[in-house]
Amino acid sequence: MLPDIEKLLELQVADKEIRQLQEEIAALPKRVAAIEDKLAGTKAHREAIRAAGKADEANRKKFETAIQDLQGKISKYRDQSLDVKTNDQYKALLHEIQFAEQEIRINEDRILEVMVNVEVREKELKAADAELQAEQAEIEKEKQEARRVTAEDQKKLAEWNAKRDGLRRGMAEDWLRHYERVMKFRGSGLAEAREQKCMGCQVMLRPQTYNEVRIAEKVVVCESCQRILYFDPANEAKVEQQVAEAVHARRRPRPKADAAQAWFYRPDYGEEGEVLLVFTNGGSSSTRRVYEMLTGRQVGGVLAREGTYRLAFPEDLTDTAVRLNGHWEEEEMVEWAAEIPSSALDILHNDLRAAQREHAKAGGHKPHSPSPAEHTAAG
Ligand SMILES: [Zn+2]
Repeated sequence: MLPDIEKLLELQVADKEIRQLQEEIAALPKRVAAIEDKLAGTKAHREAIRAAGKADEANRKKFETAIQDLQGKISKYRDQSLDVKTNDQYKALLHEIQFAEQEIRINEDRILEVMVNVEVREKELKAADAELQAEQAEIEKEKQEARRVTAEDQKKLAEWNAKRDGLRRGMAEDWLRHYERVMKFRGSGLAEAREQKCMGCQVMLRPQTYNEVRIAEKVVVCESCQRILYFDPANEAKVEQQVAEAVHARRRPRPKADAAQAWFYRPDYGEEGEVLLVFTNGGSSSTRRVYEMLTGRQVGGVLAREGTYRLAFPEDLTDTAVRLNGHWEEEEMVEWAAEIPSSALDILHNDLRAAQREHAKAGGHKPHSPSPAEHTAAG
């Protein structure tokens, strides 16, 4: 292997570590902010309970005053009834007294209702207080943890940055720039050439290009993705062995590189995390749809760009992208609307698992996994 490429491979490891550390450092304050949001929500909930309690108290006073007024009225009617002259007048007063007594009963019921409410609210308030206390403790713990992890990450970052600077010194300027440009857009600047293919973009290499990479007399780049290519004889031997094994075992069909529709899995799609992407080439343009990996719900709309998808969406095809088997007609996908139906989602999930098993067997190190648990199993 060319010394420059050996250095670039080390540089790529350093660059990936640095990026991961930077992402981790940036993510920590977000986690603390999320708990702080929750805390604010609990505080607001507690305030709402207290306000409702105050309203109850005011209502109870209002109902008590109403009862006193009604009792006053009743004794006034009773006094008047001693002086009435006619039976009709007497009946009218009796009716007023009955009406007032009925009103008193209504207000007594209301007071009872309020008292039941007060009991419920006291319990709610206690629960909210406990929750608040737990969340405050949690946020303190999280903040401490974030400070600790950040300090550790900063230290590691400084070490990796020093290593990176050391590697860059004395490296051919042209190739360093080329590597950095491709790294920036694709998440990796180098790719292994294996089985006649660029492992970065999975495109077949021309025989002459592949041979040039194997001979390793000069630096060669993939014409399709521009990654700098290297050849690892140890992996080629592994591949040959794997091919021999595959003759006996049923093998996952390999997605066609030139298919008009291509599905991919990405474990690291920005804020969305794990997603499924589907690209469709049509005429002189191509489209992209993005779906949540686990639910199949569509993220955003259909994006169309000029050119075939490999040229139009290079930023999506990082080397963590796993190409999947699967094909559905455009009309059918339009009918899905905002969600992949479970039948189609199962096919994609199964194929991803098969791809990950294959990758694990091949001794891969790329984290192509739908969950942290399986990640450990596959890695
Ligand atoms: Zn390539």
